[in-house]
Amino acid sequence: MLKQNLFPANILKPIARFLHLEEKKLEERKKTFEKEDPFSNSDRVSDNAAIDTDAAEQFDHSRMEAMKKEIDRKLIGIKKALAMIKIGKYGICESCGKMIDTDRLMIKPEATLCVKCEKEKEK
Ligand SMILES: [Zn+2]
Repeated sequence: MLKQNLFPANILKPIARFLHLEEKKLEERKKTFEKEDPFSNSDRVSDNAAIDTDAAEQFDHSRMEAMKKEIDRKLIGIKKALAMIKIGKYGICESCGKMIDTDRLMIKPEATLCVKCEKEKEK
């Protein structure tokens, strides 16, 4: 029978703590974005709305949307990782079922695929 080498609690605990912190940080950053977004700011000055300003705001808006999307993507990954820790499956590649390299998890604790599978996915 195959033995699952799961991470011991003393490794998982700091990872979970880190992920919770990241989750908080990202959610706060998302809130800041929503506040700074010129399109959600109803009392913006409109009498100097030159085309330049509009273009700049449009650019800001799409950039912010992209950043918000990126944050959302990260948040999903973090929530998933936390759920995996809870059910004791953290660090296992979703695709091939092998253990994900610890070095990789140190850099990207929300990773759900091993390096090999992620590379295959990118192809
Ligand atoms: Zn894999």
